[in-house]
Amino acid sequence: MTRRPAENAPPSDADARRARKGVVVYAGRGLPTYDSAFFARAREGMTKIAEALVPPRDARAFDVPSGHFFRIVSVEGPQVGDLNLWNAHDLSERFFSGKTRALHATHVSVGDSLWSTLPSLRPIATIVADTLDWYGFDADGAGVHDVIGTRCDPYTNLLLNGFEYHHCCHSNLTRALSRRMNIPLHAAEPHVHDVLNVFMCTGFTRDTHQYFMKASPVRPGDYIEFFAQIDLIGTLSACPGGDCGDTHSSDAAQVHPLLVEIYRPRQGALEAWRSPEPNAYSRGHGA
Ligand SMILES: [Zn+2]
Repeated sequence: MTRRPAENAPPSDADARRARKGVVVYAGRGLPTYDSAFFARAREGMTKIAEALVPPRDARAFDVPSGHFFRIVSVEGPQVGDLNLWNAHDLSERFFSGKTRALHATHVSVGDSLWSTLPSLRPIATIVADTLDWYGFDADGAGVHDVIGTRCDPYTNLLLNGFEYHHCCHSNLTRALSRRMNIPLHAAEPHVHDVLNVFMCTGFTRDTHQYFMKASPVRPGDYIEFFAQIDLIGTLSACPGGDCGDTHSSDAAQVHPLLVEIYRPRQGALEAWRSPEPNAYSRGHGA
């Protein structure tokens, strides 16, 4: 238990207060509907145009033009990846893990989009394939591909464990963005943000609601695939935790590379498709 015992006795109507019915927080009609037939057609006859092998305990950057697909593939052995995405023309617009979680769920799969930060708030990548969709939520309440964790980082590691480790996902992503943008580490680091934990199996404990991880069910050949809704720069870290079944932020775990593949759709497949515009809110803010 991390929570202290309650200091206040429950009121006489405590049961009634707890029994109120929950409603889904974001249930508006504005969420784009996922057109599976459209994406199935667009993926027919697509061509691989680039790939990047991400070494374990390191990260690599990759570019995905709007209207292309990118796939993250497990190779050699079970391995978790930490994904960052930016608008290729403006790094201030980047993947917004918190709002993606609120709009979809704690874990994402086919039909869910990765949304960008305010004020743009638009779907920047949509998941079109996921070979781990069979996993669902297990008896512990855990699922795969979470947007509830952040990323392993050297600051939290120093705080909790008292030593410096330089190959946490945060540092790997920082080095990869620094190389891609040709900017120093200290300029790249503030752009690194909360990730999509690709292939990671996580949940909250039932009693104390603490974040837990368990060995990823991913096996070589498994992949998750995205449709890029805008021009993207991505970075992917192959987490030092490997399958994240035991430890991270050290060299103790067995680790494997990850593969990123970029695909161009068949010519003409996207004629009717348009890249989403940034959110149209006036930004008046009541002033
Ligand atoms: Zn990590």
